[in-house]
Amino acid sequence: MPEFDLIGTIRARAGAQRPDVALGIGDDAALLEPAPGMQLVACTDTLNAGVHFPRGTAPEAIGWKALAVNLSDLAAMGATPAWALLALSLPRDAAAFVAAMAEGFARLATQHGVTLVGGDTTRGPLALTVTALGQVPAGAALLRGGARAGDAVLVTGTLGDAAAGLALVQGRLSALAPAVAQVLRRRLDYPQPRVAAGLALRGIASACIDLSDGLLADLGHVCTRSGVGAEIDLEALPLSAALQAALAPADARQLALAGGDDYELCCSVPPVRLDAALAALRAAGCAGHVIGRITADAGVRVLDARGEPVTPARRGYEHFA
Ligand code: ADP
Ligand code: MG
Repeated sequence: MPEFDLIGTIRARAGAQRPDVALGIGDDAALLEPAPGMQLVACTDTLNAGVHFPRGTAPEAIGWKALAVNLSDLAAMGATPAWALLALSLPRDAAAFVAAMAEGFARLATQHGVTLVGGDTTRGPLALTVTALGQVPAGAALLRGGARAGDAVLVTGTLGDAAAGLALVQGRLSALAPAVAQVLRRRLDYPQPRVAAGLALRGIASACIDLSDGLLADLGHVCTRSGVGAEIDLEALPLSAALQAALAPADARQLALAGGDDYELCCSVPPVRLDAALAALRAAGCAGHVIGRITADAGVRVLDARGEPVTPARRGYEHFA
């Protein structure tokens, strides 16, 4: 199938229609009309087959996840997503893959009012690079650098599910009830970017990040950028019923600390705004949980139920380890 047919297949699945797309797929570049007073928020992320998704992942899930991980970055900035570009590297005979992948991409794009406005299609090992663009009122973006000692540390949703889903796919977890396995697998394949939560945290959180490499690693980035440290209360980590059914408590907590692929938000909130943060997250349909606090001492420490430091087995996903 020639390249232009693949592009036609994708163009028919471009997600939402937006009046601020003056020119979408079909010319040398797209023409977009950001709203006055807004800053453009731009990010990009690549998914490589076998690295960022296991081989055998459904094409729909691959398309969904390629967009989801980018919308998660926009969410962490408190931005409203608007436009996306998709650079595809495809092996031979990828027509059926592209149609199904584009369906998954379009389903999530439509949910978030995002239009696919361009991209690139080349021959090579399967890889997807999405560039996502969003908008935020000038000066209102959530950054990594604003955490201060005494702030509460919050996360949305539950942690560790996707890592358990990956362990399941890789045959490192067996004998799970089908319903439990399905929940964990869906959390791996179809992460829900916390866009509404990110918007709700604007003007409230002092710093924010999305959790892709694992809580310890990603909270560590916030601490480094902010010149602070953090303590996490092991017992306060939010664990889903599915994760608790699948794993012993210690293993579940280990995945929640360092499993990766959660795509939840982690933020710091000054104590005076904590009630407002929890209420705003509830109103956004995404529960927030206080899991610890920002400290003046550098580094991220994990404390057990008695407040004693514990040493996690592993601190995060290392791409180049
Ligand atoms: P050019 O050679 O000028 O880069 P292409 O033939 O690569 O143009 O692309 C033609 C049009 O199709 C462009 O508007 C481009 O943005 C769009 N396009 C190409 N590949 C993709 C893709 N994978 N997803 C979305 N749009 C694409
Ligand atoms: Mg091109």
